[in-house]
Amino acid sequence: MSTLKTNAGADGCADSLVHPTQGNTPAPCTLGCAGGNDVRQWLGIVAQRTKLGLSDAQAYARAWGVIADTNPFPATLGRICPHPCETSCNREAKDGAVAINAMERFLGDWAIERHLPLRRLEGASGGASIGVVGAGPAGLSFAYQLARRGHRVAVYEQREHAGGMLHYGIPAFRLPKEILQAEIARIVALGVDLKLNVAVGRDVSVDELREQHDLLFLGIGAGNAARLGVPGEDGPGVVGGIEFLNAVNRGEGFETPSEVVVIGGGNTAIDAARAARRRGASVTLLYRRTREEMPAIASEVDEALAEGVSIEFLVAPTAIRRDAIGPNAVMVQRMTLGEPDESGRRRPVPVPGAPFAVPARLVIAAVSQTVDWGGLEPLESAVGKAQTENGAPDHHLWSGGDMLGLGIAGMAIAQGRHAAETVHAMLTGTEPPRAQRRAAAARDVAADFYPASPRAPLIERPVAERIAQPDLEVHETLSEQAFLQEADRCFSCGQCHGCQYCFMYCNGGGFVRIGQAEPGAYFALALERCLGCGKCIELCPTGYLSAAEAPN
Ligand SMILES: Cc1cc2nc3c(=O)[nH]c(=O)nc-3n(C[C@H](O)[C@H](O)[C@H](O)COP(=O)(O)OP(=O)(O)OC[C@H]3O[C@@H](n4cnc5c(N)ncnc54)[C@H](O)[C@@H]3O)c2cc1C
Repeated sequence: MSTLKTNAGADGCADSLVHPTQGNTPAPCTLGCAGGNDVRQWLGIVAQRTKLGLSDAQAYARAWGVIADTNPFPATLGRICPHPCETSCNREAKDGAVAINAMERFLGDWAIERHLPLRRLEGASGGASIGVVGAGPAGLSFAYQLARRGHRVAVYEQREHAGGMLHYGIPAFRLPKEILQAEIARIVALGVDLKLNVAVGRDVSVDELREQHDLLFLGIGAGNAARLGVPGEDGPGVVGGIEFLNAVNRGEGFETPSEVVVIGGGNTAIDAARAARRRGASVTLLYRRTREEMPAIASEVDEALAEGVSIEFLVAPTAIRRDAIGPNAVMVQRMTLGEPDESGRRRPVPVPGAPFAVPARLVIAAVSQTVDWGGLEPLESAVGKAQTENGAPDHHLWSGGDMLGLGIAGMAIAQGRHAAETVHAMLTGTEPPRAQRRAAAARDVAADFYPASPRAPLIERPVAERIAQPDLEVHETLSEQAFLQEADRCFSCGQCHGCQYCFMYCNGGGFVRIGQAEPGAYFALALERCLGCGKCIELCPTGYLSAAEAPN
């Protein structure tokens, strides 16, 4: 609890004097972001561009630069991120969260169209030789952060294209390959040596890499599809979700029969089901819990349903039934939900009764994924033992991304970045960046100050078009007008956005305009002139001003 400065009756202004302090508390969107992106900062640059003296283009380029500081994939994540930043947005309770994810996509596309380069950091002082295994988002994020700090980075990727699951897992109707590859090309243009078609452990040994590089980063993902563990699973006609999507993404003529059953409830299951629908199949997805527990992105589930995927909840496979041609049905058991398990979700338990048949000529098992250690076995125990949140006590071996536990792309990018920042600090004898502080609570923001303004709807292409053109992107990028309207909806929680109320209503002249304004820095305090009325704190809509604690 803060102790307010009090001086009853002074200046006839108030019974107890209250002096303001400027806060800059982190915004909930920023803290909600899995990638640690400073959402409020880049939104503020766009929303406040006129006050900051920026043209639209200057504001967009600066805002994009803020995103790219932590995430070199704005156009990519602007399409696929489940955007926890929006779930945290204080505007949600008023008239819908700011469409942060769609705005990120707008800026990402804008930058690609204008060939905006990623830049090295000023005074980049690194000089180490770094080897990265795996060109997924974790490995590329690590590579980017060290390359921009001046280190020499080589990335070894076993496949023909970089991008990991973003390229070979997520289908083009959600993430066009050219968007992802354009963002990867910018990382390579920083001087990263991307060695494609090189499998570490097969084409080059770990020992060779250890000799060539000062340290290694592993970002090998989780590329093995987990098995169902039911009779009849082995044999043709049963494939893993990522195998099926890999084939689709490689443009292979994977034969898709008319009846397909997908098993699982995550993004891989939903993507596989939607890809199979686009290949003309009638698709049933089986999930052992209810819609509420489904880990897949909720809007993707809605889109799958709209596209004609049928979902059976509370069922689990017990066997794959086969005939002379291949599988002809998945035998399933009805389930109910029991007590919560270690994940916190209620555990599915079988309902007494005989299994029943769901017809299937192709079964796609998308239940989970595990790490493929093939050729890298000597490192498995080292990573397992040594890994900490930001790397490893073995300072020559670091890791991040799905190999540490299945997650989302934003997390993989963040883990790559955190490891790189720690490595750079270690190599240069400097301090790694500090963790963020607590978020501004919703009560600190005066939601009524902001005019009502409904959230811009995402434009979705009609279902018939999507099914007819399998690679057609489902959503369109926001128009510039919608993008700017969304920027205006930002509350700027916890940070000054230059509304001037404090300045205008202060009778004593306790606020002084800053010559070179920045988001969050429009007025300096002149406390020697503060009358202590506290009006500025009362009026500040963002929660940036609060009562100063009295000196002890
Ligand atoms: C179908 C699907 C849909 C998804 N949808 C979303 C979504 O909508 N939103 C979201 O945020 N996340 C989504 N994800 C999750 C996201 O893709 C992953 O969290 C992310 O890609 C993990 O990044 P990573 O770099 O750790 O691993 P990966 O992306 O798997 O990359 C690992 C890379 O390492 C390479 N590699 C492995 N072993 C070797 C070796 N020995 N030598 C050289 N190279 C090697 C692999 O070829 C691969 O390129 C989805 C995942 C899947 C599978």
